[in-house]
Amino acid sequence: MSSSRPIRVAFIAAECEPWAKTGGLADVVDALARALGQVGLGAACGLADLVDVYLPNYRGIQVPGAAQAVPLSVPDPLARSGTTALRLLISETHGYRLHLVDHPPAFDRDGLYGPPGDGDHPDNAWRFGLLCRAALEHLRTGGSTGAPPDLIHIHDWHTGPAALLRDSVYRADPAIGGAAMLLTVHNLAYHGWTPPERAPELGLSPRELAAVGATNGIDLLRAAVTRSDLVNTVSPGFAAEALTPEFGMGLDGDLRARGDRFFGILNGLDTELWDPATDDALPARYSRENRSGKGACRRALLGELGLDPSDARPVLSMIGRLDRQKGFDLLAAAAPALIAQGFRLAVLGSGSHEVVEPLRAVAQSPAGAGRIALVERFDRDLARRMYAGADGFLMPSRFEPCGTGQMVSLRYGTPPIVRATGGLRDTVIDVDRDPVAGTGFAFEGEDPKALVAACARFERHRSGDRAWDSLLDRGMAVDFDWRSASAPAYLEAYRRAIALRAA
Ligand code: ADP
Repeated sequence: MSSSRPIRVAFIAAECEPWAKTGGLADVVDALARALGQVGLGAACGLADLVDVYLPNYRGIQVPGAAQAVPLSVPDPLARSGTTALRLLISETHGYRLHLVDHPPAFDRDGLYGPPGDGDHPDNAWRFGLLCRAALEHLRTGGSTGAPPDLIHIHDWHTGPAALLRDSVYRADPAIGGAAMLLTVHNLAYHGWTPPERAPELGLSPRELAAVGATNGIDLLRAAVTRSDLVNTVSPGFAAEALTPEFGMGLDGDLRARGDRFFGILNGLDTELWDPATDDALPARYSRENRSGKGACRRALLGELGLDPSDARPVLSMIGRLDRQKGFDLLAAAAPALIAQGFRLAVLGSGSHEVVEPLRAVAQSPAGAGRIALVERFDRDLARRMYAGADGFLMPSRFEPCGTGQMVSLRYGTPPIVRATGGLRDTVIDVDRDPVAGTGFAFEGEDPKALVAACARFERHRSGDRAWDSLLDRGMAVDFDWRSASAPAYLEAYRRAIALRAA
């Protein structure tokens, strides 16, 4: 293939904002697909067309009005007829071409991955195998444009079946067998382990399962890590950490074995979607040039959460999936000391309620009354009001491949207090380490005392420091726009993967 021919790129993903989201994966898939269209179309060495995104048509998705329904028959060794009939709902929207894989028995149920708050759907291998099979089958015959993809970009374990299918069912198929594959690992902790009795549901025959070594069950993320032409994760910092047993989640050896075929590309942020100057969810809008509306956001947020709006003492917000990863237990351990020092906490989380039990106990104790607001649900608009209305933003993650919250909080003029790990280390500069360039506060380790100390440094700067305004200003000025660095880096990775595949 000529190195300068425009390329065709397809994404397969389990989440995409605004249709289906539990975390940052959705933000990235949507924003990267759009940014690639913006920087790649018409560029030398760019894209031949919009990115094609394949996503399950989960329950509750508002299918774009102009979507065209295209029937598709997908080979399925477990179906009596040998095929599963489904539909693709195709629309050009948000700067890419969305393909919703519509098969109600697989996707019309509560919860993307499992019943809310209750583990996984037992047949996830079948559900996500079907997503991948539908995408590859459609792409094989030219997709929506009549031409097969040069590169298939898969995301996290849910799309691991695509790597298995490419190397078995579609091995001899020139369109899919010849296409390059890039895996982006957004979260190394979830592997999609599929036990032997469930492996046939992936859509491979017994012979094909044996050929890809899945007869005794299969770790779908590992399969994608070992089989994709290139693998990246979402920050250089986490890419380095992932090679160690401490952060590698059992895949550090597989990642080390990929040598320079595994690397980090820092996520961007959709700066149009996340902009306090245009955010409809906020009671008042503000910008880097004029932050006066932020005070109104603070007052409204505290009123909404039942915290005293007239109290000037610091309010820290935290937003995230209720997962051990995010460090809610660390915050719970630190909370009594923080309350004693005058802090108030506004916490929004969704997922497993157990994770937040220790924090709930502090919130319900006499000391926590009026000091901790804990909201346990997914609430897109409240999250926006919390990014804007708090004085500081907490992200004490145990590990963090990149993290979105700290980038949003910087953009919303709410300095982040983060654990120095992975992408958090790459995106937040500690102001005591670098008073000229600093944008927030970082602490090392898992000791709650370190978190309390970082919050105390935050308050010292906020209450006494004439440089506080400059700190906010620098944070709001950071250029996380996908189009600046991240999307061009992906285009370069696509070219490299295509060259590797061709060789
Ligand atoms: P992860 O991908 O590990 O979940 P990120 O920080 O990359 O973490 O992304 C989390 C995204 O999901 C952010 O956009 C955050 O605002 C959003 N989010 C997480 N939990 C909630 C919630 N309970 N309500 C609203 N938004 C949430």
